[in-house]
Amino acid sequence: MTDGPGHEASAQPVDSEAVLARLQTYRAHDAPTHGGSVLSYVYDSGLAALDDLAARAAALALPVNGLDPTTFPSVALMEADLVGFGRTILHGPAAVGSVTSGGTESCLLAVKAARDRWARARGGGAGGAGVTAATGPQIVLPSSAHAAFHKAAHYLGLEVEVVPVDPATGVPAATDLTGRFSDRTALVVVSAPSYPHGVLDPVSEVAAAAAAQGIPCHVDACIGGLVLPFWADAGGTELPPWDFRVPGVSIISADLHKFGYAPKGASLLLFADRELDLARYFALTDWPGYPVVNPTILGSRSATSLAAAWAVTTALGPEGYTSLTARVVAATGEVARCVGEIRGLRVLGEPAGPLLAVVSDETVTPGDRVHPHLWAAASARRGFVLQGQPSLRQSDGSLIPRSTHLTITPATHDVLGALTAVLHEAADEVRGATVELPADLPVPDPATLAAAARESGDLDLTQVLALIEQLPREATAGLLARFLQAFTAP
Ligand SMILES: *Cc1c(COP(=O)(O)O)cnc(C)c1O
Repeated sequence: MTDGPGHEASAQPVDSEAVLARLQTYRAHDAPTHGGSVLSYVYDSGLAALDDLAARAAALALPVNGLDPTTFPSVALMEADLVGFGRTILHGPAAVGSVTSGGTESCLLAVKAARDRWARARGGGAGGAGVTAATGPQIVLPSSAHAAFHKAAHYLGLEVEVVPVDPATGVPAATDLTGRFSDRTALVVVSAPSYPHGVLDPVSEVAAAAAAQGIPCHVDACIGGLVLPFWADAGGTELPPWDFRVPGVSIISADLHKFGYAPKGASLLLFADRELDLARYFALTDWPGYPVVNPTILGSRSATSLAAAWAVTTALGPEGYTSLTARVVAATGEVARCVGEIRGLRVLGEPAGPLLAVVSDETVTPGDRVHPHLWAAASARRGFVLQGQPSLRQSDGSLIPRSTHLTITPATHDVLGALTAVLHEAADEVRGATVELPADLPVPDPATLAAAARESGDLDLTQVLALIEQLPREATAGLLARFLQAFTAP
């Protein structure tokens, strides 16, 4: 099929150049998306040809509506190829699933499926009629599980049972998770690896116990799903199994727009079991319009990210991913070694992949310690953007230390010399310094913060993180929401 007849010359002139020039001025405010200087948010393969391919594939799919794959079968064909790729690399030959718009949507749909399965098994309809706050479905997860599961619970009316991780390793004890299982447990979540600390959760133990009690186990491999499968072949350490080879693993999310090197807007969500997969669908014929069947959250949806992700994975294949992962493995080792050499800093736990959480080394004297957020700010002044993570008091009283997060990509490999020099210099600049906020700190006005951020082009993140550590968490969550509202709509 073709795209039909072309357009007639239009009476309405379109000044593309002027519009695009304005967009360029907007884009000039952005952090660099390429070149390895931003160590979160962006996943640069370092291959310009891959970016070009993604752009051309997206342009080909631009007019398509992904709402209806029977009218636009290219959507089903691309999705089937991507699901097939996921089956291969995640070792689930019978797995089924979808391409979603991202990790958050994959996690939301997994929770939706688990909730509806839980409700049906108890005789309720989808949504769990007759369920009260004291008896309703729960998600059991470690404190290190991604915020997307809290968001899903919030949207979908589940309760979250948060299990502390060992603050020294970032890993939860399997028995602490499985000990929380009850008749209310609709889903248990483990990460491969966790975003905050880059460590692998005890997948086999948790999945086995979950299977024994008929509880679905979601392995959140949003960030690891397209890099861990190639890790050992690329020269990294051999990891314990965490994918569909592990008995009891029911769902895996793996973001194509992270280490799949696809542009934003694509994640893979795979289910080991067709019945559970079906529970994520929404279908409705009971209205006067077209019959609705949606496997994902959106109705009408773009096929551009799907096409771009399809093109990138098709071009790379397992061999391409393995060779990109080799650069990631080498760069991760180099950055970890560099941090290990810096007096006053250390890597938390044993990262299983390309994510590092760097914390202050409490074994040296206070004057020799490096505050990870001041270190990040000093690195930013030298051109490298690292991500601050506040400390967290867990329900058992233990404290997960504040850290600075680094995601290592193939592009990091190209700038290793400059990066490691900056990490050393930044630590030398701030060694011994602390962040002090007055104890009676007034809650800042979000509109004033937003105005300052708009003016200077960036925000004093060190202060924001210190505020989050000091004030009640609900207060700072509300503050951030009002800040972003003011930032986008002054
Ligand atoms: C990124 C991430 C998510 C959420 O994905 P988005 O694509 O940002 O919506 C969920 N889990 C983990 C482990 C992640 O790294």
